[in-house]
Amino acid sequence: MLVDWVVVGLDNGGTTNNGTILDSAGRFLLDRLAEVPSDVREGPDKAIESLVVSVEQVLGLTGVPITAVRAVGLDTPGPASGDGVISSKGATNFGHVGWRGFDIRSALAERLGLPVIYNNDGNSAALYAHHVRFGTESGQRSSVAAIVGTGLGGGIIQAGQIVRGAAGMAGELGHVPIPLDDLLDVGQPMPACNCGQSGDAESVASLTGIQNNLLPYWLTRYQGHELSGLPIGKAAKLVRKYAEDGDEMALAIFRQQAIALGRLFTIAANFLDPDAYFLGGGVVEAASHFRDWFFAEVRANTALREEQVRASEISLVPDLDMAGARGSAYAARDWFIDQGQQVPPGASLSPGRRDEHDHGEAGRLIALVVVPMRAAGRKAGALTGADLMALACHRHCQGA
Ligand SMILES: [Zn+2]
Repeated sequence: MLVDWVVVGLDNGGTTNNGTILDSAGRFLLDRLAEVPSDVREGPDKAIESLVVSVEQVLGLTGVPITAVRAVGLDTPGPASGDGVISSKGATNFGHVGWRGFDIRSALAERLGLPVIYNNDGNSAALYAHHVRFGTESGQRSSVAAIVGTGLGGGIIQAGQIVRGAAGMAGELGHVPIPLDDLLDVGQPMPACNCGQSGDAESVASLTGIQNNLLPYWLTRYQGHELSGLPIGKAAKLVRKYAEDGDEMALAIFRQQAIALGRLFTIAANFLDPDAYFLGGGVVEAASHFRDWFFAEVRANTALREEQVRASEISLVPDLDMAGARGSAYAARDWFIDQGQQVPPGASLSPGRRDEHDHGEAGRLIALVVVPMRAAGRKAGALTGADLMALACHRHCQGA
């Protein structure tokens, strides 16, 4: 296959890695999942090798040589830092003790001799949804994606870029507290989240929320319900099927989830006023009559101003099983293009320093300062340490 350059996207999950490949023209060279076992339970060494196998697999399937690869996008489930360091307290998917505080991004970059761009899986899926919807206008648009699964994942995209935040914790939509008035039933206990909060979006709008909070309560209201005879974990997974079949209790549970998601989008509307609100997760793949009802309930509970209704849309995240890998590939491509395509293959062998390139806050700050200085007759780029000191003083001293 004749290509000038490509990026590889990898979605690392609890059991499998999913890989894809995106060329310089923005075309995916694979139209389906390319999966290998992720081996994450066996610890970092084995799992890094499995990610390398994943890269080799997509190259093998497409006939693209490794020399054409300019960057690799990687996502994993959290919690991890914005730069791919797995939480020191461990994580659900990273139970092996070797994962604690492990820098998965740098380790893969070192092993491959290529830049690796890391995002959590919710952010990658959000970036994918954004690109699919906005295409060539992605860079001018913003969106918020809420993806309902075991937890409530997602992300925020602003001007085509994932909003990562100072500590890599932006876009944790699941842990945004939401108003619960007229959402909870009279006497229903306050829903608790694994993060330690009560009444955040994930405590209601997730499979875990159904299992820990919603279903145990609603089973007390529907005594003798078929699901009451099953272990709670098993019963929680069946609630959607019951809702598809029109079961009253299951619909009450999903109505609470829809209200929570609508209120979350309402917060997003006031905070970010995005072009699009994306909804994803298992419910998207549900029977169409149920999906449409759920989607309508979310919309009905999203309070937008008239101007916002005209300017924005609420829609479903497509192709969720490929969203992580494809979003990771977009992140790698965006990063490479931002470098002015100056990274030749194998030239970026210094892993662990991506922050210098891509967070760019310092660079942005300088750019903002350069404009008035040019107007004052000084050369752009002639910013000195003294100027920066003066700027710092200006900001602090003016504010005092
Ligand atoms: Zn939470």
